[in-house]
Amino acid sequence: MLLFFVCLVAQPVCSQNYQRLRQAMVHKQIQARGIVHKPTLEAMRKVERHLFVPKEGRESAYDDSPVPIGYGQTISQPYIVAYMTSLIDPKSTDRVLEIGTGSGYQAAILGELVDSVFTIEIIPELARAARQRLHAMGYGNIRVATDDGYDGWPKKAPFDAIVVTAAAEHIPPPLLAQLKEGGKMIIPVGSPFMVQTLILVEKHQGKLTSRNLLAVRFVPLTRKKNTP
Ligand code: SAH
Repeated sequence: MLLFFVCLVAQPVCSQNYQRLRQAMVHKQIQARGIVHKPTLEAMRKVERHLFVPKEGRESAYDDSPVPIGYGQTISQPYIVAYMTSLIDPKSTDRVLEIGTGSGYQAAILGELVDSVFTIEIIPELARAARQRLHAMGYGNIRVATDDGYDGWPKKAPFDAIVVTAAAEHIPPPLLAQLKEGGKMIIPVGSPFMVQTLILVEKHQGKLTSRNLLAVRFVPLTRKKNTP
């Protein structure tokens, strides 16, 4: 609470404080749990996570937990963002598709690391806010679409990697089809509001292999009205 009031009157003090919180987040939550992928760690140290949550949630922005972003949605826990990012092993030439833009935080982390990010959000208000936020931050390599991400983004396919940040009951076949040869997809699969499994899918010579990684809890992947 004190930090919040100090920040209202003294912006520079605040941004230093946030920077300290960010370094501690990377050290204690991410490196301490074994993530060593340098580019991911650098991006997590750089991107100002507190600017992706509503003002009243800024104090909790660097906590070891998800944070509400409105409309019943959350920005994922920092460790989960880092874990998913490091597992797709992003390259500077990659084109990446994200399903579930939310605040735009995961997209910004990816935007630091790859050539271009295409991200889809089903809630128009969240998509609009994320688009404005990412634009104001100068991310010219991120495009936000308002749509049901189940169908992917066929016009921009294929993708080197696909990151799904909402839990699906099954892996959407259109996303598998839009994965490049040698590509990786990471997706939480399972019933809404129950423990789900984070799955890594890889495509080699047209064949798909999958690996169950971790028990997780994501908000559900919802569908456009009238879709089965
Ligand atoms: N990646 C986000 C957090 C994701 S929360 C971040 O960094 O902030 C999951 C998001 O997926 C929510 O915003 C939710 O509205 C969105 N979502 C749910 N179903 C979707 C669908 N079918 N297509 C696109 N977005 C969807």
